Amino acid sequence: MEFMELGHAEKIIGVGNNYTMPHVLKCFEIVHWAKKQNREFDSLPTTIEAKNIIMRHLVTEQKKNYRFFDVESPFENTCPKCKGSGEIYKFFKKSVKVNCHICGGSSKIIDSCPKCKGSGRYIKRWKTGGGVDLECKKCEGEGKTKVSCQECKGKGQLKKAVLSDQLKSTTPCKKCHQLGFVSHKPHKPKKKKSKIRRPFQPFPVKARDGKSLADLIKDS
Ligand SMILES: [Zn+2]
Ligand SMILES: [Zn+2]
Ligand SMILES: [Zn+2]
Repeated sequence: MEFMELGHAEKIIGVGNNYTMPHVLKCFEIVHWAKKQNREFDSLPTTIEAKNIIMRHLVTEQKKNYRFFDVESPFENTCPKCKGSGEIYKFFKKSVKVNCHICGGSSKIIDSCPKCKGSGRYIKRWKTGGGVDLECKKCEGEGKTKVSCQECKGKGQLKKAVLSDQLKSTTPCKKCHQLGFVSHKPHKPKKKKSKIRRPFQPFPVKARDGKSLADLIKDS
């Protein structure tokens, strides 16, 4: 169910008339960022909803035109779970007829002759006993002949379940909170702790020529 009109969503995201997926997502990122800067937190869900509506529209269009869909993300830190759209899409399945992969749609294949069982010949027996070895009429002695394809039961086509271009459901991506990108914190290089620990060496209280530590400091 879409509660927001596509045109309204387009205005919120500011995409104009002609747009692509990366364009929409980039505009969304900017609007989202600006609203956060202005502390307009109440309107953030509306921005996300508007982005989702446009993306659903684009995904469905792509599915209609190219039979598959692929989210194109402009983000550097694209969410790996939703590929940048912020939602996970599921399409209804539909059954289509495709040419049989065995007979290629012709409904017949060349196979061992069923009449002579591939020998190309048969024995015609006389009632009086004995018989004569004759060439198989069905395959003309070839042993192979055109037979009905078993795979498609002679129909030439098979039913195949494919995804339709009707969206069945959209699930909000939890990983990126529907944003499509995962916010990365500025990477601080961790200070490497030296693994070699120096044993604690107390400063010698008495220096070489009988001088105390205090004397050494005084002299220096
Ligand atoms: Zn995601
Ligand atoms: Zn077939
Ligand atoms: Zn035959």
